[in-house]
Parts: sequence; structure tokens; C-alpha cells
Amino acid sequence: MREGRTDRPPRGGSGLAPRAAAMLFLVLALAPLALAALSGEEPGGWHEEAGLALGLSALSLLLLQFAHAGRWPVVSGRTAIDVTMRFHRAAAILLLAFVLLHPLAFIAPLLLPDPWQGLARLQAMAASPRMTVGLVAWVALVATVLIALARRLIAYQVWRLLHGIGAAVAAAGAVWHAVSIGVYSGFRPLALLWWAGLGGAILLLLWSWGWKPWRLAAAGWRVSDVSPLGPGYWELRLTGGSDFRFSAGQFVWLAFGRALPWNDNPFSIASAPGCGHLHFVIREAGDLTSRIEALPVGLPVRVDGPHGAFTLDRAGPGPLLLVAGGAGIAPILSIARHLDAMGETRPVALLHCARSVSRLVCRAELAEIARRRCWRAMFLSEEDEAEGVARGMPDRQRLQALLAGWNPAEVGAMLCGPEPMTMAVARMLEEIGVRPDRLVYELFDYA
Ligand SMILES: Cc1cc2nc3c(=O)[nH]c(=O)nc-3n(C[C@H](O)[C@H](O)[C@H](O)COP(=O)(O)OP(=O)(O)OC[C@H]3O[C@@H](n4cnc5c(N)ncnc54)[C@H](O)[C@@H]3O)c2cc1C
Repeated sequence: MREGRTDRPPRGGSGLAPRAAAMLFLVLALAPLALAALSGEEPGGWHEEAGLALGLSALSLLLLQFAHAGRWPVVSGRTAIDVTMRFHRAAAILLLAFVLLHPLAFIAPLLLPDPWQGLARLQAMAASPRMTVGLVAWVALVATVLIALARRLIAYQVWRLLHGIGAAVAAAGAVWHAVSIGVYSGFRPLALLWWAGLGGAILLLLWSWGWKPWRLAAAGWRVSDVSPLGPGYWELRLTGGSDFRFSAGQFVWLAFGRALPWNDNPFSIASAPGCGHLHFVIREAGDLTSRIEALPVGLPVRVDGPHGAFTLDRAGPGPLLLVAGGAGIAPILSIARHLDAMGETRPVALLHCARSVSRLVCRAELAEIARRRCWRAMFLSEEDEAEGVARGMPDRQRLQALLAGWNPAEVGAMLCGPEPMTMAVARMLEEIGVRPDRLVYELFDYA
């Protein structure tokens, strides 16, 4: 079997810096308002102006959501996935507020003195045939955001399909509505911007659900081994793919067999770049991960990536602290294996925590790397203890012991684990004197 070419020099995520991406988002979100102001058109009163501004802003936010959350490396390649998804959610909530207020603003002069008359006017507006497409877009958008807010009630992959379809229907209907109704509908530059935005959004959807999965299926990755690592933990190994470059700490989206395009899940790569295969540490969490054991050897796998910004370059050049909790050991393993393979000489300390000793997966390998490279290593188990494993949780004394003799202001810390643990350790490290910009973390659950 052909081995994967994972031997190129590692690199961090590519694309715009997070601040630049946020600025670009803001500029593009405001561009339709600026164009409307330049059109020379005069809305009929403050309420109409407010209604139009809300509608224009909502539509630009909606179209930008496709580019922003579409796994497009140029836009989000250097931003941590939890930050990207939090931004996506915050923008969606703002967008929902704009969309709800958009029709109400037009009837505000009636609604304020006489709510019943205002609502009757709203009903008459909604019943007009000219409004049908806009109404469909409004309902699709409101339903899409509400379903997203309640997404834990629906199977994750069903939700992703509904989310894509709902957003596409809302975007197409809203663009049609914007270019056919309202004071600015006849202003050509604005209409061109809307059509270009819609075209881009549809192309991105076709790219991520059509061309990309087809291209990834041809890359040749296959399951070569699945073996147990501890209670509820599995090691998955993929071989056979070609031309795959990544940096230690990054993750990929995996789709097994003939999985539909929206049916993929994110997993951090646990192997070091350049070792010829991809290795994952997978914890049983739900539908897919509880069936990992049953994946047959030879099954084709689509590997979409690398993604993520949990990379060594962000921790700076000083002493390095690696902290892992539970399945968060996966990217830390990749980093440790990479540093070992590169013969890293800077001081390194490792803290690995789990619920029980048997869940401290790959502990023997990490202890051996630490011994060979003279790293400081601490293993903690919540429930039990063993030789080389203390009982308990990370606390300030333990962190101080790991950093003893180092200048905390020069330390770079990379943390991956359950959110409460990760955030608590990050807070304690800040109190000890580690600079916030040297704290790099990855969260597996951004809900
Ligand atoms: C950047 C990143 C890297 C990750 N790396 C690892 C890893 O190395 N090892 C590991 O064991 N786990 C990792 N995870 C978590 C892993 O993706 C989920 O546990 C897995 O997708 C659950 O799928 P499921 O079908 O078994 O669970 P489901 O039954 O679908 O859901 C169980 C839980 O997993 C969450 N979940 C489901 N699908 C996704 C998804 N596509 N994205 C995010 N959350 C999801 C749900 O919100 C739910 O809380 C990572 C997650 C992220 C975001």
C-alpha cells in the first residue's frame, strides 16, 4: 500500500489573521449600507429608513455567513474553530434580530400608537403577492436560526443538512426580495453586489458539498487499523493517502465510506507530521464514535484538512507547557511526537489528566519521550492512582511545580481538554504570570 506523503515541512494554518478576517467581515457587512447611502434614493421617513437598513444589514450578514463558516482556509484557516463557530453564532443571533425587526420597522408609526392597526397593516403587507418570496426567505431564515439554537434535539448530521438548505433558501429568497422590492431595488451597483454575493454563497456550498468530497475521495486514505487504547478510547490509523501536509496540533474532518458530504466529524491528528500515516485517538461520545470499533480495515475515508490553529508557532519560542485532558491528548500527542522527532532542545513540561489511570492513553509512550528528552511530566487521575500517576486534578501548586525555575512570562502553554478544565488551567496559568497571548487552546465542543 502507498504510504501518505506527510513528510513536507510543517506549517501553521494559512489565510487571514483573525483580526484581519474580522475587519474584512465588518467592512463587507457595512458595504451595502454605504452603497445605499451613495444611491441618492430617499426613503419615505425614519421608519422606512430603519426597515431598509435592517434588511440590507441582515442580508449582507447572511451571505457572509457562508464564507465565514464554510471551512474556507483563506477566511478561517488561522482562527481557532471554537472562535470561528462562536463568531458564526453571534452573527446569526444579530442577523435574527435584524430580520425580526425588519418588517416591524416599516409599520412602527402605526404600531406604536395603535398595535392592532399596526398588526393589521403587517398582515396586509405579508398577504401581498409581491411579498411572497420575501416571506418565504423570512420564515426559512427564522426557522434555520431557531433550529440551530435547539440543535442538540436533532441528530447532528440531519441538523447540518437542514442548516445548509435553510440558509440557501433564505439567501436566494432574500436576494430576490432585495432586488425586486424597496427604494434601493433599482440601484444597479447594489443589485450587482447581491447577485455576486448569492453566486459566491451557492458556489461555496457546491464546492464544499460537491467538488470537495469528490476530490477528497480520490486521495486514497483507508482505514488500516482500529485498536483499543483504554475504556471508551480507540486508536484509528489511516494509510494510503497522498500529498498531505499538516502541522502538529491540527485537525481534519473525517467521513467514512460513502458518507454524505455533510456527514463528517472533526478529529485532531495524533501522529507527527512526516510519519507516513495518520493516527487518531477517538473517545466514544455518540453515534459515530461508538461505532469506530466496527470500521473495517480497507474502508475508504475522506480526509478534509488540515484545519485549525492549535500550532506550536502560536506558543512562542520559550519554555513550553503541554496540558491535555481526556481526548484532548490527541493533538498534544502529535506535538510531543513532533518535538521528539525534531530533537527539540527547549525545556518542555507535560501535564496529562484523565478520569482514571486506564484512560491516560499512550501514557507509557509519553513517559518514555519525557524521560529521553528530559522533559518534566506529570500524570493525574481523578479516580485512582498508580506508579507515576498522582490522584487529583490540576491545581496551582502542581502547575507551579511544573514551571519551577522558568520565567512564566516566557512560557508558552498549549491546552486541550474539556472546557471547564481547560479554562480553569488557563486562569491559573495567567495568575502564575503566563502571558494571555502565549496561552493557546483547542476546545472539542464549541456548542
Ligand atoms: C477541532 C475538534 C477536534 C476534535 N478532535 C477529537 C479527537 O481527536 N478525538 C475525539 O475523540 N474527539 C474529537 N473531537 C470531538 C468529536 O468531533 C466529537 O466527539 C464527534 O464528532 C462526535 O460524533 P458522534 O457522531 O460520535 O456523536 P454525536 O452523537 O453526533 O454527538 C455527540 C456529541 O458530539 C458533538 N458533535 C457531534 N458532531 C460534531 C461535530 N461535527 N463537531 C463538533 N461536535 C460534534 C455533539 O454536539 C454532541 O455533544 C474534536 C472536535 C473538534 C471540534
